[in-house]
Amino acid sequence: MKHPKEELTFAMVKPDGVRKGLTGEIIKRFEQRDLKIVALEMFTPSVKQIDDHYPKDEAWIRRLGQKSLSTYEKYGIDPVKELGTADDLEIGKSVRKWLIDYMTSAPLVKMVVQGIHAVDVVRKIAGPTLPYKAEVGTIRGDFSIDSPLLANSEKRAVMNLIHASETPEEAAHEIEHWFGKIKLNEYKRFGVDE
Ligand code: GDP
Repeated sequence: MKHPKEELTFAMVKPDGVRKGLTGEIIKRFEQRDLKIVALEMFTPSVKQIDDHYPKDEAWIRRLGQKSLSTYEKYGIDPVKELGTADDLEIGKSVRKWLIDYMTSAPLVKMVVQGIHAVDVVRKIAGPTLPYKAEVGTIRGDFSIDSPLLANSEKRAVMNLIHASETPEEAAHEIEHWFGKIKLNEYKRFGVDE
């Protein structure tokens, strides 16, 4: 088993994060929590890279559609009037396509972050998926306010500044997808590793 300080996660500043000039702020928030950046790069992704990043299985796509359906239910909106269908798979496919358009609209900054419970702590620092629900003090809660209602009505993905892996298994998969077999950078953080 890995030492607790060696847990790895994958995070990526999304196009709105880059375009709002928040790359430094986002990295700072990980570093100030004593997490360590061990790989970092700005790049412009291809459609295929993004398409392969997001799961393609039906269950994941339906879950994405169900999220929109529950938002519509909460606000008493008819999904058929809004999107022409109430089918979770169809809606999920649309959201996935909007996601690809969004993620290829500007450069991204990908990174590998290491530290104690890195996966959970990075998700906590990022805040929940929907910015309007994110607590002040999180990246999403401090710098964004987007909602699925607005995003769906404009036929685009919810803009939420950052992507972060949800589990250690997903992190391993995403690090491999985005960085291949690169050797991660090793160094000792003052006050953390010594
Ligand atoms: P994440 O792990 O926090 O990124 O969230 P998900 O894996 O559930 O969703 C992937 C991405 O799809 C999110 O980060 C948003 O950019 C977008 N998204 C999620 N839910 C919705 C939605 O209901 N409507 C729209 N338009 N976009 C959404």
